[in-house]
Amino acid sequence: LSTDSDVSKREAEWISKRSLRSNAENNKDIFLRELISNASDAPDKIRFLSLTDKEILGEGDNTELGIQIKLDKDKKVVSIRDRGLGMTKEDLIKNLGTIAKSGTSAFVEKMQTGGDLNLIGQFGVGFYSVYLVADYVEVISKHNDDKQYVWESKADGAFAISEDVWNEPLGRGTEIRLHLREEAGEYLEESKLKELVKKYSEFINFPISIWASKEVDVEVPADEDESNEEEETMEDEDAEKKPKTKKLKETTYEWEVLNDVKAIWLQSPKEVTDEEYTKFYHSLAKDLSDEKPLAWSHFTAEGDVEFKAVLFVPPKAPHDLYESYYNTEKSNLKLYVRRVFISDEFDELLPKYLNFLKGLVDSDTLPLNVSREMLQQHGSLKMIKKKLIRKALDMIRRIADEDPDESNDKDKKDGEKAGDNDEKKGQYIKFWNEFGNTKSGGKLASLDQYISRSGQKDIFYITGTNKEQLEKSPFIERLTKKNYEVIFFTDPVDEYLMQYLMEYEDKKFQNVSKEGLKLGKDSKDKDLKESFNPCVVVTSKYGWSANMERIMQSWTLSDASKQAYMHGKRVLEINPRHPIIKELRD
Ligand code: ADP
Ligand code: MG
Repeated sequence: LSTDSDVSKREAEWISKRSLRSNAENNKDIFLRELISNASDAPDKIRFLSLTDKEILGEGDNTELGIQIKLDKDKKVVSIRDRGLGMTKEDLIKNLGTIAKSGTSAFVEKMQTGGDLNLIGQFGVGFYSVYLVADYVEVISKHNDDKQYVWESKADGAFAISEDVWNEPLGRGTEIRLHLREEAGEYLEESKLKELVKKYSEFINFPISIWASKEVDVEVPADEDESNEEEETMEDEDAEKKPKTKKLKETTYEWEVLNDVKAIWLQSPKEVTDEEYTKFYHSLAKDLSDEKPLAWSHFTAEGDVEFKAVLFVPPKAPHDLYESYYNTEKSNLKLYVRRVFISDEFDELLPKYLNFLKGLVDSDTLPLNVSREMLQQHGSLKMIKKKLIRKALDMIRRIADEDPDESNDKDKKDGEKAGDNDEKKGQYIKFWNEFGNTKSGGKLASLDQYISRSGQKDIFYITGTNKEQLEKSPFIERLTKKNYEVIFFTDPVDEYLMQYLMEYEDKKFQNVSKEGLKLGKDSKDKDLKESFNPCVVVTSKYGWSANMERIMQSWTLSDASKQAYMHGKRVLEINPRHPIIKELRD
């Protein structure tokens, strides 16, 4: 064996499997989901490439893109193979062997602080879950552009790669062989594997089959070799001769398909149960928990662009919500064209601020046989995006509207059913806590609610770091005494927002810490001035608020800018990589 020892040593600590395992004693099943998920990503990729390159699929078995599972009880091996893209030698090193993969350290860190192993798939390190059940793993892979290789690794982090001169040629694709640990024997039981595949892989886009045993009764001639030779030669008696047979139990094997490939987005929403949506979400989001998504929206767009889509608000924010929010262009929507998976890396489907949504779009309008780059520029995408945004915002609004904690009683329509209100209770605060910028302890209010319950002409607000600080602020004392309601904006993003948002529903936004605050017809500026003793420092109407100054100062300004700033010049130094600036520019 040729060992990439350099690499292997460096990678020796790629994952702290011990902590991973102890965290997961009851959770070992997930390895199968991860492997099946990988085994279905790979044929998705080759099918996509084959749209523009017919040759790539090859012929015969290579065009059958199903996933196959085999169990070998004697050798204690579970193997899973696909006819996907396969991996070159380089791919094997890059994809399976390096801690440099960004997800690994993040994942280990999260596990060590008691994280939820169910999230492993989201960290892009799902493959490593094989070590929950195996102490030795072989990955045999054949990519069109390279020879067939075996990657192998014991649970010690080192790995070896060698040209495969032992196994049958795969044609194309990957076979993963798990040599099971002593205590993982249950995964050699066909019934266990069938149960798991059925439970978790319902929405995998390719047929998954298992090499299943079947006990059959076979009739074999009874005592053949003892049969009387004389009798056999007596041809005349053939008709009368009763065939002497006996029944035997024999084990035969055949491929048994375990899933029916379901495209629920093509069904009518009425036909799909909540449970199916939940399961579909889990398969889409690689979320291994049982949690129900906070909301979903399943719809068909017709007219100039035709597509079907299902959008989900996940039950939990991903571990890298902000990272992905600020740093990646990727949306979490899978794009299909006429049921063929195209990409999950489209940045044109949703604006960044909605990147936390998961879902799927299947378009009939987009062309199928063009490159991803061409598709990215297709005119229909803009319209698809527009519709998706509208539906997404509707869906989020609905979380609040349907939440009895959030909606104003008087807004409730007559005869509205309490129905599943209990279930919806607290949904919006949950949503906000997961995906909002600030953890919110108290009750949230929508601007509509603010306007209708305050009856004020203007919308008063104040910005700052946190609610506690703002509650004590001298600026609001006077207003709260007069029963004005003041909105607390405690997120840095709020500051930026408020530079652009002047009005809502004809009501002006007024920052109570700025000069020129008007409290309505009967009050005058001096009201405010008189009420504070000796003075209150307001910031000028058009400048930054104190909070904004604070935010700006926390940034690293160049020396030149600092000089200018100290001499009273207003400096706006734009760090193009700063997440917020990036966001604003976008
Ligand atoms: P993820 O699937 O989130 O990328 P994994 O740890 O599950 O992370 O897999 C790592 C990488 O290994 C994959 O991105 C893919 O490139 C490669 N890989 C894993 N399994 C297969 C397979 N069956 N066929 C081809 N490539 C695979
Ligand atoms: Mg994976």
